[in-house]
Amino acid sequence: MTSLEELPLRPELRGRSPYGAPQPPATHRLNTNENPHPLPADLLADLGAALGRAALELNRYPDRDAVALRADLAAYLTRTSGETVTPQQVWAANGSNEVLQQVLQAFGGAGRTALGFTPSYSMHPILAAGTGTTWVDGHRRADFTIDTAAAAQQIRETAPDVVFVTSPNNPTGTAVALETIEQLYAATTGVLVVDEAYTEFARAGTPSALTLLPGRPRLIVSRTMSKAFGMAGLRLGYLAADPAVVDALQLVRLPYHLSSLTQAAARTALAHTDALLATVDAVKAQRDRIVAALPGMGLTSVPSDANFVLFGRFADAPAVWRALLERGVLVRDVGLPGWLRVTAGTAEETEAFLTALGEVARIQP
Ligand code: PMP
Repeated sequence: MTSLEELPLRPELRGRSPYGAPQPPATHRLNTNENPHPLPADLLADLGAALGRAALELNRYPDRDAVALRADLAAYLTRTSGETVTPQQVWAANGSNEVLQQVLQAFGGAGRTALGFTPSYSMHPILAAGTGTTWVDGHRRADFTIDTAAAAQQIRETAPDVVFVTSPNNPTGTAVALETIEQLYAATTGVLVVDEAYTEFARAGTPSALTLLPGRPRLIVSRTMSKAFGMAGLRLGYLAADPAVVDALQLVRLPYHLSSLTQAAARTALAHTDALLATVDAVKAQRDRIVAALPGMGLTSVPSDANFVLFGRFADAPAVWRALLERGVLVRDVGLPGWLRVTAGTAEETEAFLTALGEVARIQP
């Protein structure tokens, strides 16, 4: 067996572990923030037909610029945000992970710096490492909110080329006020990426940063169909930004990166947007139910605008994680001392989670 140490691996990758939560078998999988609701039957039928049609053309390369898909995504953003977003402002790739990687390939890279406010989505620093971009940890308050003045100051001092703001934040669920985003944008000369993977689950009064795009050519808003749309297996992420940003990303994207099957499936799903997003309110209700039940067990949570809840505090969070798993409930230990993260899904899943947690909280306060 050859070990990694024996390979001429880039030094900054040595000793690192690949991204990925442990996936032990469990009855209730509440660890990766997916939408558990099954896809509507008429969408499944339309997907079969659309993929069949696309298959007839598989001898040809796909539309390299995904023009029709980007128009559909722009229409969705325009309809739901009230802000006019044109197809030229939209870019799509295989999951928002690939979108974010392309942003770092274009705007980060060797000799450049990216800054994000920790704890946040752990792929941001991993994508930075993979693109040779130096990573800087930005600070949050103890309650996981961002102190705007301190954050703007840190941005001015470190002058990053890329700034990440995740809103609602993963793993804490914390939404970031638009005034904060405006001020962080004003403080940076780099691009500012607002990662809005969970925005469809936000509570009323937490608007998307899409409304800030006009007049801000270095602002990027990234989205995904993996969460609210319930299409994690599709691998379709996208962003909205100034058309010049989209031009920049075309310099680094692989030709034909989005397969014709992906494009056809994503367009079909978008034609069923209303039916797909009909599950969002039900998921939010389960999130709020989890939040409401925790104090009765002597526990607390971080206010969440996402489809998950960071809950605690525990003297030994890994022990609680194991005890929940023994009861068939898989949650995520995100490495924050005292806290665990649970995905809000169906009513049955919430029931199973709260029952297991009630038992565990009695023996493992
Ligand atoms: N951003 C955030 C904040 C996420 O939590 C995730 C998925 N866990 C992603 C982006 C990437 O999602 P995808 O590649 O499936 O679009």
